[in-house]
Amino acid sequence: MTTQSSKLGNELENMIKGNVLVAEDSGYEEARQIWNAMIERRPAMIAQCADADDVPTAIAFARRNKLEISIRGAGHNIAGNALCDNGLTIDFSNMKNVLVDAAKRRAYVEPGATLANLDEATQAHGLATPVGINSTTGIAGLTLGGGFGWLTRKYGMTIDNLLSVEMITAEGKKIRASETENADLFWAIRGGGGNFGVVTQFEFQLFPVGPEIFAGLMVFPFNQAKQILHKYRQFVNSAPEELNVWVVLRKAPPLPFLPENVHGKEVVVLPIFYFGNVAEGEKLIAPLRAFGAAHGEHLGAQPYVAWQKAFDPLLTPGARNYWKSHNFTELADGALDSIIEFAGKLPSPQCEIFVGMIAGAPNRVAPNAMAYGHRDARFVLNVHGRWDEAKDDQKCIGWAREFFKASAPFASAGAYVNFMTGEEGDRVAAAYGANYDRLVQIKKRYDPDNIFHLNQNIKP
Ligand SMILES: Cc1cc2nc3c(=O)[nH]c(=O)nc-3n(C[C@H](O)[C@H](O)[C@H](O)COP(=O)(O)OP(=O)(O)OC[C@H]3O[C@@H](n4cnc5c(N)ncnc54)[C@H](O)[C@@H]3O)c2cc1C
Repeated sequence: MTTQSSKLGNELENMIKGNVLVAEDSGYEEARQIWNAMIERRPAMIAQCADADDVPTAIAFARRNKLEISIRGAGHNIAGNALCDNGLTIDFSNMKNVLVDAAKRRAYVEPGATLANLDEATQAHGLATPVGINSTTGIAGLTLGGGFGWLTRKYGMTIDNLLSVEMITAEGKKIRASETENADLFWAIRGGGGNFGVVTQFEFQLFPVGPEIFAGLMVFPFNQAKQILHKYRQFVNSAPEELNVWVVLRKAPPLPFLPENVHGKEVVVLPIFYFGNVAEGEKLIAPLRAFGAAHGEHLGAQPYVAWQKAFDPLLTPGARNYWKSHNFTELADGALDSIIEFAGKLPSPQCEIFVGMIAGAPNRVAPNAMAYGHRDARFVLNVHGRWDEAKDDQKCIGWAREFFKASAPFASAGAYVNFMTGEEGDRVAAAYGANYDRLVQIKKRYDPDNIFHLNQNIKP
């Protein structure tokens, strides 16, 4: 028997170049998987677009048939808004091309590309732009929310290097947005997420990076956490922007350079990245070795693309995940104390607390230059609740929420929308702060019916 969905699916498939999957199709179950296994949604149909021209057709079809729309880049977002229930998912998993103009130092990126796709294409020319730290993350969602990673201290957020986009609006019009074309829209999409239309191409500025960089990990015992964090705070204050050091507190994975009796024990990890010459990197990081008596370290020259994948094994899809996040201007004593307290009671072997450093170029951009306005943030804290079994939901979510509350008094204003869960809708206005009202005005102009609402939603 043909269901209503498969009838509609057939109709749409006849109208676009890409595939349309409905529940009866063999690829459907795989296509509706996203990174966070806590999200269980079943779209009526998944339109796997073949090119940008499929998008206006899919939008118009959804509107005509009163289907809710979701947009899927690489499906990494923790909130799970890449999927809808009973609606139409516009899926970019077949649009991952990256074109590099090495002479102009530009990359033109399709919306299904992952960080790995972008890094591989740009590094073939010894170029890169700042993106995140897990190579399977999607460029689309990461960019539209802000985007930061190892290169951010020197070259800024991902959006600081976005030059233009091609977009399909709620009315189905294909337009470009940049500083000189539809400038208001360009202002809004740099941080405003998928609220304003569907991006079908991103154009990025690139910089010479690597291909070899100096990077790795130092791992210290948890009982030295206080001295490590205090020394870290002091060290990074004067570190050059080519050097980035983050902090991760978690149970030690079975890394070959760690003694076996450390595996599974709480540790303090310093991930280190430097993209100058190796000898200089060695000199710069020497003081870190005096932070304490390390369990071990693994540091050296390696390809930038390899380092960009270094954390992938800890961040595989299919686990249950619940995150909370704060921005910090300074790491106050109280913030460090609460980090240590909650890292001492991790509710699962995969839960972790990480502090990412973004101090540098992002702070030199005016807070009203684009929708992402947290230009005083020097550190981003992510409380990363991660576990396997639904029976542990309450315990792990409870831990993340309690820590979030305990560390809140030390946080700066705003929040990074890319780390927010689906239940944090009431935090959206606060996340954008003084930029929110302008975002609402632009939303009214480009999506007055709020057809793009499966996101950290800015209501028209
Ligand atoms: C393991 C992991 C590591 C991460 N590390 C970092 C990091 O180092 N730095 C960092 O900044 N962030 C990081 N993030 C957060 C990441 O930036 C967000 O989850 C981001 O939204 C993922 O993008 P995506 O395209 O994969 O997500 P999706 O879930 O596919 O999309 C997220 C949302 O973006 C919108 N969207 C997607 N594509 C389009 C489009 N083409 N047009 C319009 N709207 C669109 C939609 O609203 C969609 O719901 C990480 C996330 C994970 C899960």
